[in-house]
Amino acid sequence: MIIDGKALSLSVKTELKEKVSDFERQFGRKISLAVVLVGNNPASQVYVKNKIKATEFIGINSVSVILKEDSTLEEIKDKVINLADDSSIDGILVQLPLPKGIDENEVLKLIPPEKDVDGFSSANVGNLLLGKPSVVACTPLGVLTMIKSVNYDLKGKNAVVIGRSNIVGKPMALLLLQEDCTVTICHSKTKNLTEICKNADVLIVAIGKANFVKEDMVKDGALVIDVGINRTENGIVGDVDFENVKNKASYISPVPGGVGPMTIAMLMQNTYNCALKRVKNGL
Ligand code: NAD
Repeated sequence: MIIDGKALSLSVKTELKEKVSDFERQFGRKISLAVVLVGNNPASQVYVKNKIKATEFIGINSVSVILKEDSTLEEIKDKVINLADDSSIDGILVQLPLPKGIDENEVLKLIPPEKDVDGFSSANVGNLLLGKPSVVACTPLGVLTMIKSVNYDLKGKNAVVIGRSNIVGKPMALLLLQEDCTVTICHSKTKNLTEICKNADVLIVAIGKANFVKEDMVKDGALVIDVGINRTENGIVGDVDFENVKNKASYISPVPGGVGPMTIAMLMQNTYNCALKRVKNGL
């Protein structure tokens, strides 16, 4: 069965639209998300455009801060500090990657945890690790929401995550651990990758290599989620060879139309949750 991220994201966003208009009625103000884009990376420009489109659909106010490719670290930091101090801003998103030579952590650490809608701050990552309430990174949260949407029981399952990035692989593994999976994290130095993957009831792939996972790496009846986005001559493809794997998997997500739209829906959900928490805390 195909897990349709596009359809699921639409239903999440439609539900949020209601909640956002209730928020406005109740608290007499709009929810605001600041989006910081530095430079002219074409993929980042597309992501930002899609995120702003989603805010428009839901009724969240977006504040775009566009900075030139050759901006200095200090210039970027100043903008983020202003947004952090601005009480009308509920969420701050700094589109990654930042231009070469800019230390992303120096920028991200200026986002207060309560406005960190991407869930990248040390405080939010730490709380996730400790199993405490936190803002969870949008992509892994989207993957978990997709798995739950088909009522798949994760308890006790062998889950393998390929990829150990801070924004996908690591938080994904933590979320699956919280769901009582037995989790293995694989990466570029992993030995016997095929053998490990063949044992996975749940296989999450986030490596950035077009059509890397073939059917010999997939257990019969596994649930396979493809996070990869790879631009090829044949358009955008995932990290999983969809045609090759689809008949072996019990559930599989497509690319495009899988995790991508869910990431944006989760960004909207995190923004709403941050705004609600801020008003409840009198901010
Ligand atoms: P990254 O480059 O930071 O990390 C890639 C990871 O894959 C690394 O941990 C590396 O060790 C591992 N890896 C690379 N080659 C491997 C191999 N041959 N075998 C095993 N492991 C290998 O990437 P990322 O930011 O985590 O993104 C991964 C992919 O997911 C990319 O295609 C990216 O575009 C995509 N992505 C999609 C979304 C979305 O919304 N759908 C969001 C974020 C990232």
